[in-house]
Amino acid sequence: MSSKYHHLIDGEWLSSPDYTANLNPADGEEVIGYSAQGDAATVDAAVSTAQRAAPMWACTTSQMRADILDKAGQLLLERASQIGHVLAREEGKTLSEATGETVRAGQVFKFFAGEALRVTGQQIASLRAGVEVGVAREPLGVVGVITPWNFPIAILAWKVAPALAYGNTVVLKPAELTPASAHNLAQILAEAGCPNGVFNLVFGPGETVGEAIVNHPDISAISFTGSQGVGQRISAACGRSQKKIQMEMGGKNPMVILDDADLDHAVDVSVNGAFFSTGQRCTASSRLIVHAGVYDAFAERMVGAIRVLRVGNPLDEMTQIRPVCSKQQLESNLSYVKLARAEHADVIGGEALDSRGFFQKPGLFLNANNSMRTSREEIFGPLASVIKVDSFEEAVCVANDTPFGLSSGICTSSLRRASHFKSQSTAGMVMVNLPTAGVDYHVPFGGRKGSSFGAREQGRMAVEFYSSVKTTYTFSG
Ligand code: NAD
Repeated sequence: MSSKYHHLIDGEWLSSPDYTANLNPADGEEVIGYSAQGDAATVDAAVSTAQRAAPMWACTTSQMRADILDKAGQLLLERASQIGHVLAREEGKTLSEATGETVRAGQVFKFFAGEALRVTGQQIASLRAGVEVGVAREPLGVVGVITPWNFPIAILAWKVAPALAYGNTVVLKPAELTPASAHNLAQILAEAGCPNGVFNLVFGPGETVGEAIVNHPDISAISFTGSQGVGQRISAACGRSQKKIQMEMGGKNPMVILDDADLDHAVDVSVNGAFFSTGQRCTASSRLIVHAGVYDAFAERMVGAIRVLRVGNPLDEMTQIRPVCSKQQLESNLSYVKLARAEHADVIGGEALDSRGFFQKPGLFLNANNSMRTSREEIFGPLASVIKVDSFEEAVCVANDTPFGLSSGICTSSLRRASHFKSQSTAGMVMVNLPTAGVDYHVPFGGRKGSSFGAREQGRMAVEFYSSVKTTYTFSG
C-alpha cells in the first residue's frame, strides 16, 4: 500500500490539493508513496507558526532541548532498519548503506543533545575600570533548511539537530525525490516531544517552496545543501535580504595515487571513493590522479575491480552498486560518458543496464586530462576520470586545479609527502590512505572554493552558524 506524506505545520499533518508520486529508482514504475505539494502560502503558514514558537523554544531549558533531541536520536537508532528500508526503496541506497545512514542520523541527534548542554559564553576583562564584558550566544530565530536527495535523513539530521539544540525553530524543505525519509524524521521529532511549531516540514518543488523559504522576510538564516547552481542563486537572494547563509555544494574530488603507494590498498580506496553509493556523494573521488610509475598497473587493477562490482537491487544483500536516483540523473550521466568519448578519453564501462530501474555500470575515463569537461564538471554518478602525472608536485597542482574544494585524498607510504599534501591541498577535508568520502560526525564538515560558503557544518563548530553572538558591557559602579 502506498503512503501519503503530508506537510507538518504547527503540529498538524496537513494535506494538499496536489500530490507527487515517490518512485523507486530500482523500478522506475513502482510508486512508494505520494508527497503533498506546497506553495508560497504553505511556506507562509509554516514560517508564521515557527516564528510564534521561537520565543518559547529559545527560553526552554537546555535540559528539555537535550532530552527531546536525545529521544529523537534513540528512536532513530531503534528504528534504523525499518527507516533504512524505506530510504533504500526511495533513494536507491543499498540496505546496509541506508540503515547505516539512519544510524548516523540517530548519532547526530544524540551528539547535539549533549551540545545543547554545553553552550558557552565568555567573560572578559574590559579596557575600562569597573566594566565587565560578556560574550553570549543566542538563537537566530527561524532557520530555513533546504536539503538534497542523496543523504535524505543524515543531512537533515546534521542541520535540524543543531538548529534545535541552539534554540532555533525550523522550516524544512526536503528534496522532491526523497519525501519519505523526511516524513519519518518529522514523525520521530513529534513523537520525541518537540512542541508544536518548533519543527515544520513543507514538501514541494525548489522553484516554488524553496524560493519562498529563501525569500521569506521572517526567516533569519538558510542552511542549504545541493548543487552549485542552485546554491549560487540562493546565496545571491540571501545577500540582498541579508540572511545568514551556510551552503554545502558540489565537488570534483581528487584522489592522488603516488608511485610509493600500496597499490592494492589504493585500488580499494579508489573503488570505494569513486563508485560506492553509485558515485552520488558530494565527496566522491571523481578524479583519480596517478603517478606515471604506477599508472598502467593501477589502471589495469581498477578495470578488473569495477568489472566484478555487482550492480543490482538495493534490497539484495549482494548488491554493491545500486541504481542512480532518477531517470534524469541517469540520462545526465550517460551524456557525460558520450562526452568522455568525444574528448578522446578511453571509456571503460559506464553503460546503462536494460531494466525498468535506473541502473548504470561503473565507468572509468582512462587517459583523461584535467582540462576535459568530464574532469572539471561534477557528474554525480559512478564515473571517474583517471589522469596520469609525472611527479608529486604535478599531482598536487592537478588536484588543486578545480573550481571545487570539498575533499581530497592521497595514497602514499611517505609521511613527508602525506604531510605536504595535507598542507598544500586546497580542499576543506583531506584524507591520507582513506577514501575521499566517509567522515566522522563530531568534527567539522565542509569545503572551500566553489564547494562551500559560510560556517562549517557538524561537530562543535556547528554553533557558529546556528547562533548569533551578543557582546554586553556592564558597569556596576
Ligand atoms: P539541487 O541543488 O538540485 O537541490 C537541492 C535542494 O534545493 C532541493 O531540496 C531542491 O528542491 C532545492 N531547490 C532547487 N531549486 C531551488 C531554488 N531555486 N530555490 C530554493 N531551493 C531550491 O541538488 P540535488 O540534485 O538535490 O543534490 C545533488 C547535489 O547536492 C550535488 O551537487 C551534490 O554535490 C550536492 N551535495 C553536496 C553535499 C555537501 O555537503 N557538500 C552533500 C550532499 C549533496
